[in-house]
Amino acid sequence: MSDHGTLTPEKSPVAAQLDKRRREGTVFDQKSSGRRGVFLPALDVPEADPAKAFGAQFRPEVEGEVELSEVDVVRHFTRLSQMNFAIDTALYSLGSCTMKHNPRINEETARYPGFSDVHPYTAPHLVQGCLELLYRLEECLKVLTGFERVTLQPSAGANGELTGALMIRAAHQKAGDARKWVLVPDSAHGTNPATAHFAGYQVKELTSSSRGTLDLGELESKLTGDVAALMITVPNTLGVFEENILTITEMVHAKGAYVYLDGANFNAFVGKVRPADLGADVMHMNLHKTFSTPHGGGGPGAGPVGVVSRLVPFLPTPTVERQGDMYYLDENRPSSIGRMRTFFGNYGVLVRALTYILSYGSQIHQVAENAVLNANYIRKKLEPFYHLKYDAPSYHEVVFSDKAQTAKGVHNIDIAKRLMDYGFHPPTMSFPLIVPGALMIEPTESEPIEEMDAFIDAMIAIAKEADETPDLVRGAPHTTVIGRLDEAAAAREASKAGSFAPGLRAPAGVKSV
Ligand SMILES: *Cc1c(COP(=O)(O)O)cnc(C)c1O
Repeated sequence: MSDHGTLTPEKSPVAAQLDKRRREGTVFDQKSSGRRGVFLPALDVPEADPAKAFGAQFRPEVEGEVELSEVDVVRHFTRLSQMNFAIDTALYSLGSCTMKHNPRINEETARYPGFSDVHPYTAPHLVQGCLELLYRLEECLKVLTGFERVTLQPSAGANGELTGALMIRAAHQKAGDARKWVLVPDSAHGTNPATAHFAGYQVKELTSSSRGTLDLGELESKLTGDVAALMITVPNTLGVFEENILTITEMVHAKGAYVYLDGANFNAFVGKVRPADLGADVMHMNLHKTFSTPHGGGGPGAGPVGVVSRLVPFLPTPTVERQGDMYYLDENRPSSIGRMRTFFGNYGVLVRALTYILSYGSQIHQVAENAVLNANYIRKKLEPFYHLKYDAPSYHEVVFSDKAQTAKGVHNIDIAKRLMDYGFHPPTMSFPLIVPGALMIEPTESEPIEEMDAFIDAMIAIAKEADETPDLVRGAPHTTVIGRLDEAAAAREASKAGSFAPGLRAPAGVKSV
């Protein structure tokens, strides 16, 4: 009798693969076998001393350690890659991050040698095509937002926020009225108050209404003459549209303050509404969210900032200008806040964004329509199983909580971990802060209905497990290579080491947390 007759779930090929991955280790843990990837012809020149040839880069302690064939190396790294999760694997429900499919045509254009092989110090008259791309992307973003100008320099949303806040500060200072406060709703992304502080302001928090939106009475009471700006997110981080936005922007302008619109959620209304028409004076867009670009694991991004005409003099330098058929960089802008980023920003992300915008053309509103449709589909199907703190209509994302599950001792982190067993990336957890036990789900417009149904089925199955077998959920994940991490220990170690990398010190006034 052969062993094949006794295949149990624990001995299945899938389990065997998982077991193998759990033992994978690093490349140095691979058995040194005397194999090699390449066989070179016998030496016909004198042998050089590697320590001399490579200098400090030579590491004698690893010489001869790893001897593997090409197939060993490829399989090792492929197995490592399979321990990760990617948008190319399945629905990536991480709300607020807009983890959508990245069309491959973007990758094709970003790799054109005329874009990817250019040295950033090349003289402008030799890279006219590269400058034209920047010019045209700015034009597209102007059409979509209604702003007078857009800077493409900032590297991410947070960098865009700082750019906007510094422009607001420069404008107030130039008017001889520096002002002191920035108002930020309690539902805001953490980068908003951090940005205001970094730009030298103090922050006043606005308590949200019972609908999760800005409370007009609260705004009225805190909107004093020394408020520099209101930072507002539309739709906000609960996925709820600020229905009083026109009144809000009028109130802020009447006090001589600016409206900073956090446009990270532009994917919810791109092509439908121009933010400048809502009364925003300055707004950043996260190109890596609304206009695609693979951005998991920390990079790369781009956070262009649009401004109304009053703020144009303060834009970072250089701006890209056109005279006849020639494009040039304008450094001569006396009121500019200066540079926010080296060279031209994250150029590859800008190429991808323009490709994405031109691929949709006049149909770009479909992005917003489908993002909103998908989020509401998931909301409706999961409403009977998960608690919704704010009942206002959803836009591109929906924020549930673990309130219905906590009676059985199951919390949002358990639900998130269990979802990994079902093959999905967990939702964003515990954000926004005004929803205890938050589970923030953003399917994006690129998910097909079958994939959303599979995700919904998994979430419903977990709700049932939480009721019937809560220990199973609390012990999750059960099928991943690495199980539950000791988050308390991780936080302790991180606070011991400080949250800044070795050698980096916190800027003055910023507490390491
Ligand atoms: C993502 C996000 C940001 C920050 O953008 P980064 O590109 O990650 O720096 C700011 N505000 C909101 C609402 C966001 O979702």
